[in-house]
Amino acid sequence: MNEPDTPLMRQYHAVKKQHPNALLLFRLGDFYELFYDDAIVAARILQITLTSRNKEKGQAVPMCGVPYHAAEGYITRLIRAGHKVAICEQMEQPGPGKKLVRREVIRVLTPGTATGSSLIELKENNFLAAIARGSGRIRAKAARAQVAANVSGSDEDGDAAGADRDAGSDGTVIGLAYVDLSTGDFRATEFACEKAEARLRDEIEILRPREILCPQPSTLFAAAEPPTTDAAGTGAVETRLDDWIFDPPYAARMLEQHFRVAALAGFGLEGHSQAIAAAGAIVHYLRETSAISTHKTDGASAPHAVAGGLEHLDRIAYYEQQDAMILDAVTARNLELTEPATGDDASATLLRAMDETATGMGARLLRSWMLRPEISLSEIEARLDAVGQLKAATVAREEIHKYLQGVLDLERLTSRVTLGLATPRDLLALRGSLEQVPIVRTFLRSVFGNPGVKASGKVEEEEIGEAKEKAKSTGSPPSPNAGRSRLGELFERMDEMADVRDLIARGIADDPPALVNDPGAIRRGYDAELDELRDILKLGRQIIASMEERERKRTGIASLKIRYNQIFGYYIEISKANLHLAPADYERRQTLVGAERFTSSELKEYERKVLSAEERVLEIERRLYADIRERIARAAARLRRTAAAVAQTDVLVNFARIAAARNYVRPEFTEAREVKEIEERIEANDGRGTSSSTATSRGLLMIAGGRHPVIEKLVEERGERFVPNDLYLDDDSQFLLIITGPNMGGKSTYLRQAALISILAQMGCFVPATQARLPILDRIFTRIGASDNLARGRSTFLVEMSEVAAILNTATRDSLVLLDEVGRGTATFDGLSIAWAVVESLHRGARPRTLFATHYHELTELEQLLPGVKNVHVSVQEAGSEIVFLRRVEPGSADKSYGIEVARLAGLPNDVIVRAREILQRHERSEDKLTAELSPGAMPAPPQQTSFTAIDESVLEALRGASLDHMTPVDALKLLDALQRQLK
Ligand code: ADP
Ligand code: MG
Repeated sequence: MNEPDTPLMRQYHAVKKQHPNALLLFRLGDFYELFYDDAIVAARILQITLTSRNKEKGQAVPMCGVPYHAAEGYITRLIRAGHKVAICEQMEQPGPGKKLVRREVIRVLTPGTATGSSLIELKENNFLAAIARGSGRIRAKAARAQVAANVSGSDEDGDAAGADRDAGSDGTVIGLAYVDLSTGDFRATEFACEKAEARLRDEIEILRPREILCPQPSTLFAAAEPPTTDAAGTGAVETRLDDWIFDPPYAARMLEQHFRVAALAGFGLEGHSQAIAAAGAIVHYLRETSAISTHKTDGASAPHAVAGGLEHLDRIAYYEQQDAMILDAVTARNLELTEPATGDDASATLLRAMDETATGMGARLLRSWMLRPEISLSEIEARLDAVGQLKAATVAREEIHKYLQGVLDLERLTSRVTLGLATPRDLLALRGSLEQVPIVRTFLRSVFGNPGVKASGKVEEEEIGEAKEKAKSTGSPPSPNAGRSRLGELFERMDEMADVRDLIARGIADDPPALVNDPGAIRRGYDAELDELRDILKLGRQIIASMEERERKRTGIASLKIRYNQIFGYYIEISKANLHLAPADYERRQTLVGAERFTSSELKEYERKVLSAEERVLEIERRLYADIRERIARAAARLRRTAAAVAQTDVLVNFARIAAARNYVRPEFTEAREVKEIEERIEANDGRGTSSSTATSRGLLMIAGGRHPVIEKLVEERGERFVPNDLYLDDDSQFLLIITGPNMGGKSTYLRQAALISILAQMGCFVPATQARLPILDRIFTRIGASDNLARGRSTFLVEMSEVAAILNTATRDSLVLLDEVGRGTATFDGLSIAWAVVESLHRGARPRTLFATHYHELTELEQLLPGVKNVHVSVQEAGSEIVFLRRVEPGSADKSYGIEVARLAGLPNDVIVRAREILQRHERSEDKLTAELSPGAMPAPPQQTSFTAIDESVLEALRGASLDHMTPVDALKLLDALQRQLK
């Protein structure tokens, strides 16, 4: 390539060489310019004009640019499009006499590391994830060591045998780590055993990271998996890093350095080499991309010092997927937890229905609780206690909500501070937000000031739960006031941050500039030297201004102007017409078309004074500002803890307000299972129920007057009434319901409301019912038959079946399974046979609590054949020519002839109705034969039974043979009569 060889372009190429994979935004005055291929790509994405530079010399360089003050929007679009963006700034003020200003890349933004406020959804996390794969051998050994050290260990690795089994047949362990740089949320986990890939996929689909780091040669999902295009199947951008970055020893050093600890055990990471590898890769990548240490004010950070700007990543938490209720992505979608299954009516989601939080932090926490409901009874009860207290304290609750609305996103403001991105206005926002904290605390105290609200009989369970919590949270020491109420804990954890508030109040001006480097951020009175220089500056400017008046008088040129620009500094401008009046002591500087510019010795002197004072002012302001920001950054951990407590308070208040407004009740839990029992189960089946555990009985699931939290709202908005329904499932006599009834009868709604009520309960929220006694569920599965789900566009029978297969393989006795019209995506008898076999398999295998909504009436026969299976139906009523959907769920199966009745009511001609009845009877006869054959002990159904109506072949023959052209109407009628008699 023949490159234009100018100093500027040489500088450009030097910078670009360091960031070959990013679009380089190169600051030139008021614009960020892109060159070469970067320009071509950006012009296409941003829909801006592609121009070129140096055309005249025959070395045209493609180029495009965006104005710096509007850059954020453009950068967002480039990142959304999956690109990385390197921002190269001018590191010096371009001023009079300076040729080429120093330029440096101050940040590299990637989809996973973007923290600009417009880059991220306020109510969602912006995760950067990393995936590492390796052998589980180290892990098994370490787990064994851990067991010796920690007999009461509550996680899956607390058992050597478990660890051996864990490191599946090929010994592969997958590590996953993820971080939200904007909030400081940093976690890691591991997956082992043969289902590791599937579990990883579940986790990724729930987290929906924006960017995933993986080692160079491997792929996100193993090659054996069905092709899911790429990482983009998860909506994430995939970034490949060198292998060695994922090397566990290197990664461990990286983390130890970053967290300034000697060992990682404190975070619960010990023995989890792949989790460490993934987390280490994230830290490595963040250090590389944010490049923050280089533009810190002192610039003194050595390459291997703790990366500046990442102070808010002050901890990492190790967790296990099964520490929470597992909701796979298909289930989350079918239940419309956070996104609508069809269309884009977001108001139809549970999240939307349940989110009246006051802060972005609260909204994010709510969302993460929803996708990961709790399984720890003590945690759930602690939240429910708090919700109950807040529900009772009407006034305080509403006050807290009101003041929380004045709290901006503390988590994100804090990380903007530590990342060095906070503007003076961000600091004012921080102060304004922190001012609400003492008020919120006061109201909180008034609520929990009345202790002893714990429900009776829960003491023992709580103690067990607490012990378990302690064992689990090796990362942070148990809080000294553990055992106090949750609201008390939150009260304690909120720091009023008086020091930070005071610092900002003293240091930052009331109406500061929007940008960090513009003058005026520091309040008068904060620094004596600054104030003095500002006075000098002001005086100098006044003198120059008065000079203009004076010179006009002296020269007699009324249009004489004294102005300033960046290249020439201050100058006196005289129009061409008045040139002859210019005094001799003026020194010519520049000639324009219509005017001439001069300076004078006096002007030069004041210019020097003003400019040097200006430079000094800027310098001091920048130093003071950086100092304030750094002092706040040092309080980042306290800010983060406070933010977390505020977020949780927000969510609990939200639950209480909803409970009060919508008449929700506190759920009770029927399983007082002991920790030991849970552990046994977890280690005995890595997700799969075994018959050995069926020996112990499990708790009831009983919902009285249950409502669907989302549909209830929608129905009521239409001015209609939602019909509440009961649900009863017990251990053995009734754990699998077959639900029949007409279309639109309310089957799907009934199924989903059972799941949503359980999810809400395990989030620690009250539930829409008059009474709810629930078990703790380990997983919920929801599958919808293909044709019920066509709008999703991607559903095929194959997908439906693979989803069902996943249920049969992973459901346990503690799961809830919802099957909605499963089997619908294929021919009637295929579908029926599959549905039948699925029920049998669930019944024979893990025996999870199951609700099966179906249009196959044949399935209702199973009630007779399999103990524990019960029929219910949604009822309807005929009122004159109207059909009324009562939407009541009642025992027994639905009336089979109902569909034809609807057709009659809808006005279908009578002969069609009569004929339909005939066909139905015939069909039912063959169906009886079929179900008899499907019954246990019988032979499998004959495979050729595939047509819906069995019309006599001879009749068909006669019809085909009849030559209508040669037939009189009477003959035709006779033939018809004969055929009919033949059929009867
Ligand atoms: P099905 O699955 O039996 O075809 P749905 O569960 O999809 O029926 O319900 C159809 C519609 O009926 C829902 O969209 C809702 O508007 C209404 N509906 C369902 N259940 C109730 C109920 N319990 N009370 C009031 N309206 C209901
Ligand atoms: Mg339905």
